[in-house]
Amino acid sequence: MPNTEEVLTVAGLTAVCPECDAQVAIGSDAEVGEIVSCSECGADLEIRGLAPAQLQVAPPEEEDWGE
Ligand SMILES: [Zn+2]
Repeated sequence: MPNTEEVLTVAGLTAVCPECDAQVAIGSDAEVGEIVSCSECGADLEIRGLAPAQLQVAPPEEEDWGE
């Protein structure tokens, strides 16, 4: 009898875009803090959680810090 630990075996996750309520696909190997883009509205979304999957609008990149 196999030892069935609690493992996420889903091929991919989906979460709801906070901007447009579209379903956003998240790769099964995604990690919290990763940025994904909504295919509907193009918003950059940060993964805030994976169980359940949660997305938050990512803060804009502050390119001024580069110099
Ligand atoms: Zn969206």
